[in-house]
Amino acid sequence: MFHSTTYEQIRDAAASTGARLVIVSKDQSVTDIQAAYDAGHRMFGESYVQELLEKKEQLPPDIEWHMIGHVQRNKVRALLPHVSLIHSVDSYRLLKEIDTWAKEIDKPIEVLLQMHITDESTKFGFEYDDLPLMLHTDNFKRLEYVRVRGVMGMGAYGATPEAVRAQFKGLKTYADQLRALYFSQSPNFTEVSIGMSDDYTIALEEGSTIIRVGSSLFTE
Ligand SMILES: *Cc1c(COP(=O)(O)O)cnc(C)c1O
Repeated sequence: MFHSTTYEQIRDAAASTGARLVIVSKDQSVTDIQAAYDAGHRMFGESYVQELLEKKEQLPPDIEWHMIGHVQRNKVRALLPHVSLIHSVDSYRLLKEIDTWAKEIDKPIEVLLQMHITDESTKFGFEYDDLPLMLHTDNFKRLEYVRVRGVMGMGAYGATPEAVRAQFKGLKTYADQLRALYFSQSPNFTEVSIGMSDDYTIALEEGSTIIRVGSSLFTE
C-alpha cells in the first residue's frame, strides 16, 4: 500500500534542500505505483530492465523512469528509448554500449557513475582510485551520446549513521573534485544520488541532489 503521509514528508524534506525524490517502485504493484502517481509523483526508479519496461507499458506516459540497478549490456538497447536517467553505470564497457545504442536512436542518454563508497565487497561501482584512469582515456573522451550528470552511491547496509554519513560526505567531496578536474566544461555535472529509506535524512544533510526511496513509502 502506498503511504501518502510518509510520501508528503519525504517529498517535502527533499524539496526543502532542492533535491529530487525518485520513488523506488521495484517490487511494487502497478496499482500502488498508480497511487503514487495520483498523489502527484512522476519520477520512479526500477532495478531491473524487464520490470521497468513492463510497468511503463501499464502506467501513464508522463512518468519519468530511472534505472537504479545493475544494467546488463545485452539489455541496453531495449532500455534506452524508455529511460530518463541511468544511475548505475559502473564500467567503461557499459558506457560504450550505451553510447552505441544511443547514437543508433539519436537520443543522448543521461547517466550517473555509480561509485563503490563502502568497505563492503561488491561487484558494482567504480573504485575512487580507478575512475580517474578511465576519465583520462581517449576512449572515454570519444563517447558522444552519453551525458554524465554526476555520481551515485549506496551507504553500507546496516552501518551506523556515523559511518553512512562519512561515506556520503566522502562521495560529495569526490564529486566536487571530479567536477573541478574533469567536468568543468560540463555545467550539468551536478547530481549526487545518495539516500534511501533508512538514510535519506543524512544524505540530504550531506548534499544529496537525488534521493531514492522505496520500502518506507509502501509499508503499512
Ligand atoms: C532498492 C533500492 C533503493 C531503495 O531502497 P529502500 O531501502 O527500499 O528505500 C535505492 N537505491 C537502490 C540502488 C536500490 O536498489
